[in-house]
Amino acid sequence: MTRASKRQLNIFIVEDNDGDARLISELLREAAIGDCSTSFVKELSEMQALDTAPVDVILLDLHLSELSPIATFKLVNSIFPKTPIIVLTGTDDDNLAARVMRLGAQDYLIKGTFGAHTLKRSINYSIERKKSQIRILRAEKKSRKLTLKTMVLRDEAARLQETNKAKDVFVSIASHQLRTPATAVKQYLGMLLEGYRGELTDEQRAFITTAYNSNERQLKIVDDLLRVARLDAGHVILHRTPTNINELLQSIIRDQQDTFLNRHQMVHFSPTHPAYDLNIDADNMRMVFENILDNAGKYSPEETSVYVTISVNKQGTTIAIKDQGIGISEADSHKLFQKFSRADSSFRRAPNGSGLGLYWAQEIVKLHGGIITFDSKLGLGSTFTIDLPHTAGLPISIPSTLPLQTASHDAYQSNARLKKSLRREQ
Ligand code: ADP
Repeated sequence: MTRASKRQLNIFIVEDNDGDARLISELLREAAIGDCSTSFVKELSEMQALDTAPVDVILLDLHLSELSPIATFKLVNSIFPKTPIIVLTGTDDDNLAARVMRLGAQDYLIKGTFGAHTLKRSINYSIERKKSQIRILRAEKKSRKLTLKTMVLRDEAARLQETNKAKDVFVSIASHQLRTPATAVKQYLGMLLEGYRGELTDEQRAFITTAYNSNERQLKIVDDLLRVARLDAGHVILHRTPTNINELLQSIIRDQQDTFLNRHQMVHFSPTHPAYDLNIDADNMRMVFENILDNAGKYSPEETSVYVTISVNKQGTTIAIKDQGIGISEADSHKLFQKFSRADSSFRRAPNGSGLGLYWAQEIVKLHGGIITFDSKLGLGSTFTIDLPHTAGLPISIPSTLPLQTASHDAYQSNARLKKSLRREQ
């Protein structure tokens, strides 16, 4: 049952011939369409006054004296665009019938040739058909709007992609340009510290050391920017080689031991038994672990420990780096892997971070088919976990237990490579 048929059906009849009007009334009564009300008008001008009434169907005599049949139909259709119109005519004119049907009439009935049953059926079908047409029109309108929106969004996406590309190129060029002079500064400061221009006073040494350290930070940021620019430009191609994961982590911990010792922090390392070779890009993965281990120390107070563990399961290898540091709040946790994102709590402890390391690390791990996740409680510490799938995990010799980190401290040990290169230049 239709909604229109539930309430009183309002039928609007435009007929200038009294006899025909009476006949239609009779047929409607006979048809027993249910609870229906009818309104008759003789002239089109009378319709304007009725156009606010909810009309369910219009029975329209096309041959009114004022206008041509087509003009009559067009006018009524424009006043009641959502109402089905059934055309009534005294002439059996196929051409006219086809034209008004094309213009949107729901049916074309020739007076004197139809009875109550036909009229009832025509009214019901016309109402349903018109509703479907309106639904289709609405859907088409919606779809047109969506198509337009999609086109606008696609345009916008293309524009943003262009802007992003331009930004990447800019960052890449700017970083390259910054790196060269910054490296020269580093070399000259290193030479001064080495005593190439004579002994330094304590005060001079302190000044130059500060400049040297600032320059190092500057170079680190430039390197981060360059690495991310290369990654975003799709220029990072993995060169996988079988890599002993125990040895890789052991060597990273060894390289960072001075920094940890300076903060009176300990790194505890639990390698996997038996050791496995992982088929990874050792250079890139080294930088991933370096960054996460460095963060673990950087975002932790003095006298704390960092635990590095490797475990192997059916899916792959899991490397966990757990600290007892400042932790990450729930509010900050969703943004850490985004470019240039830093947790609010981290600024006091390490004001110079770029917020690029974790983004880069995540992308590199993803390229390996792996994933980085973390678990953290503000004030209690964090555990960063890197899961790498078994791509070519073959057991190799079982290593002896690797020692904990206890190496001695040497203030300029980290400059050894620079010193060597300076000596070579001499
Ligand atoms: P950076 O350390 O240079 O700021 P990263 O991308 O490596 O950049 O890290 C992003 C942010 O994640 C850091 O600024 C810090 O807020 C947070 N973070 C990373 N590691 C830790 C950690 N172990 N403990 C607490 N916060 C961390």
